[in-house]
Formats: sequence, C-alpha cells, structure tokens
Amino acid sequence: MDLDLLERTLRERGEPAFRRRQVWEWTARGAPGYDGMTNLSRALREELDAAVPYSTLSVETERESRDGTVKTLFRTGDGHPVEAVLMRYRDGRRSLCLSSQSGCPLTCTFCATGAMAFGRNLTASEILDQALHFRRLTELDHCVFMGMGEPMLNLDEVLAAARRLPDLGITHRRTTISTVGWLPGLRRFVDEVAEPIRLALSLHAPDDGLRSRIMPVNERFPIADVVAECRRHAEATNRRVFVEYVMLAGVNDTPELARKLAELLGRDHFKVNLIPYNAWAGGQAAVARPKTPPTAAGALYEGSSRERIGAFRHELERARVPVTVRLTRGRDIEAACGQLAAAPRPRGRQAAVPAG
Ligand code: SAH
Repeated sequence: MDLDLLERTLRERGEPAFRRRQVWEWTARGAPGYDGMTNLSRALREELDAAVPYSTLSVETERESRDGTVKTLFRTGDGHPVEAVLMRYRDGRRSLCLSSQSGCPLTCTFCATGAMAFGRNLTASEILDQALHFRRLTELDHCVFMGMGEPMLNLDEVLAAARRLPDLGITHRRTTISTVGWLPGLRRFVDEVAEPIRLALSLHAPDDGLRSRIMPVNERFPIADVVAECRRHAEATNRRVFVEYVMLAGVNDTPELARKLAELLGRDHFKVNLIPYNAWAGGQAAVARPKTPPTAAGALYEGSSRERIGAFRHELERARVPVTVRLTRGRDIEAACGQLAAAPRPRGRQAAVPAG
C-alpha cells in the first residue's frame, strides 16, 4: 500500500488524522482488503478501494516447496520483477527474506541476481508490501534483507520499511540487514540507526585479492575498512555482526583461508554463517547478460562438499570464532539464497538444477 497516497487521499476527503492509523493497523495485521475494515464507513472503504491500491505489487507467480518455503514473484506497478521468500521452520519460526531493489547493480560473480539487469531501488511501500503479502498468509516473526539488491544502496527506503515491521509482528531484534559492505551506506547505518536491527556482512573471502575476484565491489571498499566499520557497530550495540560466507569449492574453502578468516575477525565481534552454495547454472538461460567466467578454468562455481564445509568450520571453532552452517531451504523451488533471479522456470526443468 502506498502510504503517502493513502495519507493524501484521506486528507483530501477531510478525514480525521486517526483514520490513517486505523487503516494501517488493519493492514499490518493481515486484513485481506479494505472490505473487512469494519470501523470505516462503507463509503470510505469503497473510495479507498478505488483510489489506493491495496498493494503496490501484483503477484505474478507463487511456488511452495516441499519444506513449506514459499517464493513469490511480484511485479511493481511499472513492471519490475521483485522476489521474496517465506521460510517456515518446524519450531514454528516464520522468517521472511525481502528484496530492497529489483535486480542489483553489484556483480558478485556467484550470485544470480548480480547477473540480471538492474532495475531500480524499491520504495518503502514496495518493500513493505512484500512482507504484507505474507502477513496475509500467516503470522511472522523474523525478517532478513537478503533478497534481491543491496540494502545499503537504498538505505532510507529499507529503514522506513524496517521501522514498520514491528506492526506486523517482527521486532527490530529479529530483523537483519545484509550488505556487501557498501561503505557509505554502512557508515550511515552504524552512525544513525538507533534501533537494535542486526547487521550482516557478506564477506566470502578473508583477503582482498580473492575477494576482489569474486566480488568486484571489493575494489572500491577493501576488507579492512569494511570489517572495521562492522566492528564499530558490534562495539556500539554489543551484538555480534553476522558474517555470511558462501562456500565455493576450490575457491574460498581451504583450511588455510579459514585460519585467515579467524585471524581477521577475532572472537568477540562476529559470528560466521557458512552458506552452502546454490549452483544456478540452470538459471543462466534466463539471465540478461553474459558474465566473465568466474574461475580461472572458465567453469561455473560449484558448492563445497559437506566435508570441506565441516573442515572449514572446525578451523573456526578451534580459533573460538562462533560459527554455524546455514540450512538451505526451498531448494526444490529455487528459493534458496542468491537464486532470486526473476524468471520462474517451468517445473519440468527443476531436476536439471544442480544442488549446491
Ligand atoms: N546485497 C546484500 C543482500 C543480498 S543477501 C548482500 O550481499 O549481503 C544475499 C546473500 O546470499 C549474500 O550473502 C550472498 O552472498 C548470498 N548468495 C548469493 N548467491 C548465492 C548462491 N547462489 N548460493 C548461496 N548464497 C548466495
């Protein structure tokens, strides 16, 4: 729902100021439309229905995984694709993964979103409408900004949306914003955000040479500066920054690199999440522009084996760096991390997508 348009519409009608809050409360609690907002007059409900679309996004496709994960492809009013994912866990946790941009201008070599054309920043309403869509299906308690896009390139809109999530049941402590380490936005985040929103850093390599190879953004903002900024956040908030580290076979997964990573991060300020890589070669036909081959041999990336991930983890544990291995959800519907490229593929081709 475009909240500015809502406000304008109510004001033009001469409605009292509290109407906006009434409409928002219904919406945030998952009302299916204006129709059920019983403390508004029928005339007002009809007028809102005509003047303020209930969502700024339309649902194009929605797929549900065997594990209960739901992935939805939306379109903005001007036709840009946006994807979001709902993950449901056995312990009852319901976690959202939201997009901050349609596409992404950064070209991390292993990421499907980085290979599609960049569209634009999403508005706060478009970000919130992803969450509201799922709120109409179920209660929610966690949210990560780990869908399409780089949140720190669209920080104001991301924060405006994040600040409303508690109305949907998602507290700031259960909200995580993830970044490649885009320093201007990251600095602002550390300086200006008073709410206890969690920070995650997508690092993927402990030294600049390797990181630049897999994440071109590192040429602009080298590791030392980015890690220092994250450490500043950990110290200011007394909460660990999560480090995301996607495990790429033969690229960044040796025990030696694990030791380097432990040395870089130390014991006190970070927690490492090792992410099994979701290979997406099956998605290449759907992406807009070809990329330079990511590895020297020109082959596509492959995910590290369980043994390699286990050995990497062991090195971090030995150095007393907190570490977990991330579960991969929704693999059968290509809803796993980094697979939110726009074009949904027909069911018959799913078997061709290699599991990472
Ligand atoms: N731009 C932000 C937000 C996107 S988060 C960021 O990079 O942090 C997306 C997360 O999924 C990042 O940690 C990214 O490195 C990871 N990712 C991307 N592609 C992936 C893939 N194919 N398999 C596993 N993780 C992937």
